[in-house]
Amino acid sequence: MPHRFFNFLLDLLFPWQCLYCQKEVENDYPLCKDCFHQIPIFDDFICPVCHRRLILSEAPPAGEAGRKKVPLSEARRVLIPNTASHQSCRRKTKIEALGAVASYNNNILKEVIHHFKYKKIKNLAQPLSLLTIQFLENSFYFSQLPKNNLLIIPLPLHLRKEKQRGFNQSELIAKKVADYFHFPIRSDILLRVINNLAQVTMKNVNDRKCNIQGVFQVKNGDNLKHKTIILIDDVYTTGATMEEAAKVLKLNGAKKVIGLVLAKG
Ligand SMILES: [Zn+2]
Ligand SMILES: [Zn+2]
Repeated sequence: MPHRFFNFLLDLLFPWQCLYCQKEVENDYPLCKDCFHQIPIFDDFICPVCHRRLILSEAPPAGEAGRKKVPLSEARRVLIPNTASHQSCRRKTKIEALGAVASYNNNILKEVIHHFKYKKIKNLAQPLSLLTIQFLENSFYFSQLPKNNLLIIPLPLHLRKEKQRGFNQSELIAKKVADYFHFPIRSDILLRVINNLAQVTMKNVNDRKCNIQGVFQVKNGDNLKHKTIILIDDVYTTGATMEEAAKVLKLNGAKKVIGLVLAKG
């Protein structure tokens, strides 16, 4: 493997520097442990419309209130889903719940995602998927989610864009998450058939909605029947992209679509 050997020599001569603090690192990606641990991750899944936590109030089991202390594990079991206050939200979205791992306002995370996507440092999928897994492990919503009919689908890039970048960043994360939890993953069902302008080039919500309309198509839709889809993307800003993808998935038979993104703007 002459290519791998060459990379090995290269690493010896020029070890990675952390992309944020410039400290020398021994990882096979340029992010140090200290900076990694400085990325705060969010608590739990939120409503994609009002951005409040889906499960709000912590109540001790009925009858035990005030009598004895309830261990947290039990108290968590009776968290009350605040569905009543999300009824009007539900009419405005096709996404059941949104899991954002961290905030895009965190400068370290912003830099990591930038290096991952635009400087094409593929190995940054490693720390980014670790954060994602950690978020899911901490999430009460996720712990309560039936796992038997889950299917992971990464948000697709247009083929031309994927060739340009060399990989689909969302797919790399999705694969590692699927691997870790032993969930099935399919990248060949949801396709991006139109190479639209990058959403990041427009600020206006309506422009973004128009720009994304009709770009997705579903192939082999039979595989979506009765499935809860975890749709994975990198950055969530207005949610227009994820809404459009969720709409197409549900039109083709998916039971529920749950969004999972690295960063929420
Ligand atoms: Zn650092
Ligand atoms: Zn809501």
